[in-house]
Amino acid sequence: MAGNGKPKIGVLALQGDFEAHQRALERAGAQASEVRTDSDLQKLDGLVIPGGESSTMLKLIMEEQLLEPLRRFGTNKPIFGTCAGAILLATEVTHPAQPSLGLVDMSIERNAYGRQIDSRISSIEVNGKSREAVFIRAPIIRRVGPKVNVLASYQDQPVLVEQGRHLVATFHPELTADDSIHRHFVDKVAAASNT
Ligand code: GLN
Repeated sequence: MAGNGKPKIGVLALQGDFEAHQRALERAGAQASEVRTDSDLQKLDGLVIPGGESSTMLKLIMEEQLLEPLRRFGTNKPIFGTCAGAILLATEVTHPAQPSLGLVDMSIERNAYGRQIDSRISSIEVNGKSREAVFIRAPIIRRVGPKVNVLASYQDQPVLVEQGRHLVATFHPELTADDSIHRHFVDKVAAASNT
């Protein structure tokens, strides 16, 4: 926690839409910062891996030798992965297969809605409340393990899930005005750092 009692949450800032996440985290009560190196990770209570292009992000993660530090971070601190970040958290990636952090027991298919319908804004229900979900060349979660809790679905596929301390969205909650999903993650980070 920061001296002001706010959880310190980093946003992986190698590629993708990390700035919108930082703003959403700040609105949700966290102290947000950009993460580019292993030492940036050391001072954090939680991390967001944003949307972008997962193969490019993975290449940059490898170049910066961040794969193991990120894995290690995820074994005791919460990570929230959105879209490309969701792909990076999965235990299995298909279409095509690529390495990942393997922190959330699920199989995820990249660019699964097809090229014609690259992006869409749809309505989903989270916690009994309707909210907008922005999907951009989104993956589909094809399988979840027994420890994964599905918080919201779209067209019968899970789109917001959690496993223990980690949270995953296949859409972009940082691009809509409703900060409830970021608030949920900030609460998870605060709870995890109090234990
Ligand atoms: N299609 C991207 C991928 O496979 C994810 C898109 C996104 O993050 N908006 O990495």
